Amino acid sequence: MPKIHVLPQQVAEMIAAGEVIDRPASIVKELVENALDAGATRITAEIENGGIGYLRVTDNGCGIAREDLANAFVRHATSKVRTAQDLDAIGTLGFRGEALPSIAAVSHVKVMTRTEEETVGSVLTIDGGRAGAVEEAGCPVGTTFEVRDVFYNTPARMKFLKKDVTEANAIATLLDRLALANPGVAFELIRDGKRTLRTPGDGDLLAAIRVVCGADVAAQMIPVRAQAGGIAVQGYISRPTTSRTSRTLQIFFINTRYVRSHTCAAAVEDAYKNRLMVGRFPACVLNLSIDTALVDVNVHPAKLEVRFSSERDVYNAVHLACAQALAEAQRAPAPSRPKLTPFSLDDFDYSGQQTRIGAPPVPKTPTDLPRPALSPLEQPATALHAGETPAFPRPTAPVMTQPVYPRPTASVDIEVTEPRRFDASDPRPARIEPPPDEPVCAPQEPEWRIIGELFDTYLLIQQGEQFHLIDKHAAHERWNYNRLRHLGETPSERQVLLAPQAVTLPREEYFALLENPEVLQAIGIAAEDFGEGTLLVREIPMLLDGCPLGDILSEAAEKAMLHRRNLTPSVLDELLYSVSCRASVMAGKESSMPERAALAEMVLGEEQIRFCPHGRPALVTLTRRDVEKLFGRLG
Ligand code: ADP
Ligand code: MG
Repeated sequence: MPKIHVLPQQVAEMIAAGEVIDRPASIVKELVENALDAGATRITAEIENGGIGYLRVTDNGCGIAREDLANAFVRHATSKVRTAQDLDAIGTLGFRGEALPSIAAVSHVKVMTRTEEETVGSVLTIDGGRAGAVEEAGCPVGTTFEVRDVFYNTPARMKFLKKDVTEANAIATLLDRLALANPGVAFELIRDGKRTLRTPGDGDLLAAIRVVCGADVAAQMIPVRAQAGGIAVQGYISRPTTSRTSRTLQIFFINTRYVRSHTCAAAVEDAYKNRLMVGRFPACVLNLSIDTALVDVNVHPAKLEVRFSSERDVYNAVHLACAQALAEAQRAPAPSRPKLTPFSLDDFDYSGQQTRIGAPPVPKTPTDLPRPALSPLEQPATALHAGETPAFPRPTAPVMTQPVYPRPTASVDIEVTEPRRFDASDPRPARIEPPPDEPVCAPQEPEWRIIGELFDTYLLIQQGEQFHLIDKHAAHERWNYNRLRHLGETPSERQVLLAPQAVTLPREEYFALLENPEVLQAIGIAAEDFGEGTLLVREIPMLLDGCPLGDILSEAAEKAMLHRRNLTPSVLDELLYSVSCRASVMAGKESSMPERAALAEMVLGEEQIRFCPHGRPALVTLTRRDVEKLFGRLG
């Protein structure tokens, strides 16, 4: 039997630190939470090299008295709880007294602090858990923590750190959430000398949302304020007219502590039932004020999850609050959009859904659409023609993926009729002529003609008594998305590369793709492991011909890394959205006549192409009557 011995204090501290501190962002989290507990109204975080080399958090809170300063770094030393009973109702963000000793165990720390009662401040330096002497220092009321060389003495942990930019992003995301949870506190983030966040701290949550999520998101938010079963729910949710492709903008706080909560997310989404397309999600920033005795925050090492004494009460309160807010918003007018005076376009049908164009739909394949520009390192993929053999020798490595095309289920179900076979060698012009038995439009349906292109972005088309505006990018994106989703049934839209293309990726991305072959399968790419960070791409969907494959593989890898254990159909569907986007013509670039014709043919011939995959309209239709009303010709 190996002999049992008690670990030296320093080793024990380093092990314990692993529980609380796993990356620079967790240090920033603990320091900022301490600042909030200290009643700060202004908190500034500064980071260099993703916080690994240097980070500093400054607050104007109550400070630490000189006689307490050394104690703050002792494990389980806290000013926030005293007795076991106190644990039953925790009102502060910290309570374990573990953060400071853990941070000090794995980095070089310097703290400067002064309370209001003191005329001179104090400074203390701690290196690898060993504290120096507390000395006098001139400083304002509040506290500044400087942390250098994170994990310098724990190489194993150091190895797990991501790129500086990834660590910095994690810190930025954290501060965004803290700023949203505390609109009364002015937050600042300075990243490698550049200020990337500054919230006003005036108590206005919408102002904080504007800074963190952007003015567009903020403009579409509606207020929520309700109380049920002793739970107050307050914040903002998005109008049903502006949904998102993922849940990343669903932010919940319990007594201003950021938490992940399936119960809250389900309650919000259920309140939007039948108001959003399947696969679309509302955005929200909601704080729940609950009696601290009814929540257990001590169930997760990073306190990211909480346990409610009654999940049902929480669900009911959130659901009711959101349902009320949505009903109220429906009664009140939507935010004003720029109007054409004196006539308004608001009365018109923007959706184009009432407009029946070209029944039955005849899906067409645009032969002449431009391809996105290649990055200098990319070689265009080349189709393998019949009778030719791949010039690239096949490596002996086992085949990694063969497209199996899982059908995303958690998204809009779009029925696409069998597309016409695409033949790259077809010399026909892009304005595809239908075979004799296949009219361009239904018999009564009038022919269309392209009037021109507006702002290099919208096609203008007249069709009988109707005037269509087509968003080129949105329409092409939808067309591509429909094709990608149905690749499994349409082998003719896949392409074996004449010369398999080698793509070398950053290690992290390469491993992520090897670990999660389903991400490439979902977008119809077949690749093999070629070793040393390189994948050999053998088969791609036809519509990605000429696209920069490296970028697409990187994007797929990113999804795999983000959702490692949870690659749901809707995550894969999101990947389809962005790949469709990459393969689409760009707005703001004038199209040639054949391109315009091919795009118009696609949209008018396929009724599913009315919205882009993100829900923006691809087609807006005005009738002659609408136009005449605009000019006052009709009463
Ligand atoms: P906890 O937050 O769980 O109490 P910490 O290790 O994070 O434990 O901090 C220990 C103690 O140090 C806190 O209880 C608090 O009294 C004091 N402290 C830490 N940071 C600050 C700060 N920024 N301002 C004032 N006091 C602080
Ligand atoms: Mg703390």
